[in-house]
Amino acid sequence: METLLPRDLDEALAAIAADPEATVLAGGTDLMVQVNLQGLRPARVIAIRRIPELREWVGRFIGAAVTHRRLEIGPIKALAEAARTVGSPQIRSAGTIGGNLGTSSPAGDTLPFLAAADAEIVLRSRTGERVLPWDQFITGPKRNARRPDELIVGVRLPEHLPARQAFAKVGVRNAMVIAITSCCVIRDEDGTTRVALGSVGPTPIRARQAEEMISAETRPSEAARAEFARLVAAEVRPITDHRSTAEYRRHASGVIARRLLERVLP
Ligand SMILES: Cc1cc2nc3c(=O)[nH]c(=O)nc-3n(C[C@H](O)[C@H](O)[C@H](O)COP(=O)(O)OP(=O)(O)OC[C@H]3O[C@@H](n4cnc5c(N)ncnc54)[C@H](O)[C@@H]3O)c2cc1C
Repeated sequence: METLLPRDLDEALAAIAADPEATVLAGGTDLMVQVNLQGLRPARVIAIRRIPELREWVGRFIGAAVTHRRLEIGPIKALAEAARTVGSPQIRSAGTIGGNLGTSSPAGDTLPFLAAADAEIVLRSRTGERVLPWDQFITGPKRNARRPDELIVGVRLPEHLPARQAFAKVGVRNAMVIAITSCCVIRDEDGTTRVALGSVGPTPIRARQAEEMISAETRPSEAARAEFARLVAAEVRPITDHRSTAEYRRHASGVIARRLLERVLP
């Protein structure tokens, strides 16, 4: 296995243009599991974690190589809450937001935040840049729209990101757990509310009917909150697997969405 260590983004883009079959390695917390346990044998690896441009976090642009640890202590509340739930301290120190996107697992913990925030994914190749809305980037379970000669450069958040935001996930333990369901709720001062869920569909899911209903409620009553939970539970598309039944995932999604809504209300 040949490992390339480009010093900057230009070198990395040249390397991937020369060999689009090469495997991109960031923190390795997903990739090395595939190598160690699933027999993946990449012929050539391009290690990108130390590339300065990818480690930048400037305002609403978060570089792909920003680790969960940095997100966890960063200023974006729901993203910090999401990053704090990823793996263990060791995993959070190595794993990156770009790797979470690169894997595009339905259970990726930063993804509900990115979906609720309407984030854009910035991709670059030697021939130019593409900026895709999150729902055009993530196309299915562990599938995304990255082209083989592109790197995920980072994530661009909207100019206006409401401060009232919260994330939580449900799992069988408090730590080191893959989500059974996860949820992010963001509410603006005017009541506009966005809710996204993970692990309950092939990609993160925005519960649009629930959003529309609760956004019209300036002071959601008990009945409105219950209806919000009901709509969220109706809109998710969970499956039954070794982690949970679909039925429990659906129920837990409604419960957690309502709790988060209550956290973000004034
Ligand atoms: C013990 C353990 C616990 C975990 N717990 C959680 C958890 O609770 N929640 C969670 O969401 N995840 C969890 N994970 C998964 C993993 O830590 C995250 O998905 C992490 O964000 C991956 O980032 P990475 O930098 O390590 O990616 P890598 O493993 O380096 O890469 C992952 C994939 O993305 C591609 N890639 C990475 N960066 C780029 C880039 N800039 N451009 C193009 N492609 C790229 C790689 O080629 C690879 O296909 C866990 C993993 C382990 C081993």
